Amino acid sequence: MNDILPEQTPVWQYVEQTVRQVLGSYGYQEIRMPVVEQTDLFKRSIGEVTDIVEKEMYTFEDRNGDSLTLRPEGTAGCVRAAEEHGLLFNQTRRLWYIGPMFRHERPQKGRYRQFHQIGVECFGMDGPDIDAELLVLTARLWQALGLASHTRLEINSIGTSESRKQYREALVAYLSDYHDQLDSDSQRRLSTNPLRILDSKSAETQAILADAPRLDDYLDDESRVHFSRLRALLDAARIEYTVNPRLVRGLDYYGKTVFEWITDSLGAQGTVCAGGRYDGLVEQLGGKPTVAVGFAMGLERLILMLETLDLVPAHVNNDADVYVTALGDSAVAAAQQLGEQLRTALPALTVITHCGGGSFKSQMKKADRSGAQVALILGENEVQAGTVGLKPLRAEAAQLEVPQSNVVEALTKLLDH
Ligand code: ATP
Ligand code: MG
Repeated sequence: MNDILPEQTPVWQYVEQTVRQVLGSYGYQEIRMPVVEQTDLFKRSIGEVTDIVEKEMYTFEDRNGDSLTLRPEGTAGCVRAAEEHGLLFNQTRRLWYIGPMFRHERPQKGRYRQFHQIGVECFGMDGPDIDAELLVLTARLWQALGLASHTRLEINSIGTSESRKQYREALVAYLSDYHDQLDSDSQRRLSTNPLRILDSKSAETQAILADAPRLDDYLDDESRVHFSRLRALLDAARIEYTVNPRLVRGLDYYGKTVFEWITDSLGAQGTVCAGGRYDGLVEQLGGKPTVAVGFAMGLERLILMLETLDLVPAHVNNDADVYVTALGDSAVAAAQQLGEQLRTALPALTVITHCGGGSFKSQMKKADRSGAQVALILGENEVQAGTVGLKPLRAEAAQLEVPQSNVVEALTKLLDH
């Protein structure tokens, strides 16, 4: 679990604001859910035999003896909240949320125990058009963040639960003959979650899978049509993708469309955004049948990407614009008033008013460290004369002395350069 320190928060805010802007422009509405839910909610939605439920959840008993879990993902809670407050019945919804998720995994680069996701969930739309919209909007987001040429899209259709069941049987029958050659995780999954074997990282297992039955041969007609219409929409929108017949995702609730946005710039932890359709989940959790599709992206990985690829824009920092010094007791009140005047007149600027006294030299050192472009100098002489000194800190330019009433104008001029 990481602390996010002041020098890192600007890039977080930048990513969050960019996502907010993009989602807002498509009419997605934010929902905020609690970070804990009843343990049962996750067991029933994510699935008992998934990695998350089997070994990654932070589960505890509260004072009433109820079993609660720190949310490992947002979809289950979002469905619970939307259903509980009647947001789903007879309506369509485009929702999103942001916040921390918790999984007890082995920490490594791009994988943490508290991490942050932005999730998007759409309800009540059954066609491939909304699947395509989700992919188009993520493509727009990569564009906005400068990541478009560093991400690629993989899509697949995993069909209905009925067609998956038939495929599962065929896959298990095939793999059972190779049981002893499979990696140990895959051996275990053979009886619990065999589809997950398809994305095993073991080269030996992958070699065995080369001749395994293919999921797309077992797809039902409806899923097949849905998938080909989705591909046509992506082609029309000029979104590049590859169909990865091995892409299955690890959670039980997915069906039909699944997708991942992957980057090669982060090593093994390359999936930055992942999702799919989960038409059965709302009903499975006790609601009226409501189709749904969504995705979640990992903010740590996106930020790691921006930093690794040196794509954080120069303006994304904590730098102040103006640092107001106050030399001597008589200047303190004047400096604070000047700071207030500037914040009113130029609200986009970051104005730091010096506090804590000290010599001219130490105040100028602080001004320099603040990143400010200009230091305003207010000493006893200036207070007496009703003037202010303007000292450019990043350019070879002389200090100006201006009447207090002209500071805003003079400052605007200086900062324009
Ligand atoms: P992975 O295959 O990398 O384990 P996942 O299938 O468990 O991912 P999802 O549950 O679909 O991932 O979560 C969506 C996204 O959230 C991932 O693509 C990733 O960007 C991010 N994510 C998932 N787990 C973590 C984690 N432990 N630390 C940081 N980010 C994570
Ligand atoms: Mg995982």
